[in-house]
Amino acid sequence: MIIDAHTHVFPPGIQANKEKWRQRDAWFADLYASSQARMATADDLVAEMDRSGVDASVICAFGFADPGLLAEMNDYLLAAARTNRGRLLPFIGVQPRAGKAAVAELERCARLGAYGIGELMPDGQGFALDDCEMLAPLVEAAQAHHLPILTHTSEPLGHAYPGKGTVSPLAVYRFAARFAETTLICAHWGGGLPFLELQPEVAAALANVYYDTAAGLYLYRDAVFPAAALAVGPRKILFATDYPLLNQERFIARLRASGLGEAALRLVLGDNAARLLRLRER
Ligand SMILES: [Zn+2]
Repeated sequence: MIIDAHTHVFPPGIQANKEKWRQRDAWFADLYASSQARMATADDLVAEMDRSGVDASVICAFGFADPGLLAEMNDYLLAAARTNRGRLLPFIGVQPRAGKAAVAELERCARLGAYGIGELMPDGQGFALDDCEMLAPLVEAAQAHHLPILTHTSEPLGHAYPGKGTVSPLAVYRFAARFAETTLICAHWGGGLPFLELQPEVAAALANVYYDTAAGLYLYRDAVFPAAALAVGPRKILFATDYPLLNQERFIARLRASGLGEAALRLVLGDNAARLLRLRER
């Protein structure tokens, strides 16, 4: 089973109305400033999955700052998931700064079939991932509903790109120290955090932290796949493309050729995501 653990889709028509959406959110405006920035609908993604042999994809909310915009996005993702049952697995967007209203949105979406929370975009949404006191009610609600949390993270050095932001390995470490029981998925290889897990005390603190490979082909040499598997073990790595940023078929080919063994590949390509998302229990 192949599961892409991190993709982005938007409602049809957004590409044509991009300027209007750019006025509604500054972070979105930055990320999609270029006319080259690709956007896809749920139908585009399903066609891509059929071409690439992908069984299911996590469709992530964009981390808008405005709760109204998030609710609109969430409704689209949940409806797309209902139409493509079992193939599209929605992660919904919340604004942690909205307090009780964020918890209410989480509970509404959990009832409607959400599989997780995210992609949190702390820079765009105006909070720090290590502001644990502010995040506590939301994180506890996510845990009560068995919903993993996916957050954007990035490398504190290296490659610059739109939307990179400042969510560092240190912020993840502080979050995980406070919320040790919460399943946290760090996008884009956790900003390099897997390699700090070679310190035993860091590995112990990050027992419930996972890493997705989204956008990874743009950030690291392909040696990252076996190197990270050596550092954290293959059970903590989730295949993810960040589609439509990267094409699924091409990513899978690169991953298969990276030197990971068959058993590790099975875990990374789908078994880990199936376990974290409790696909069998649903
Ligand atoms: Zn991201």
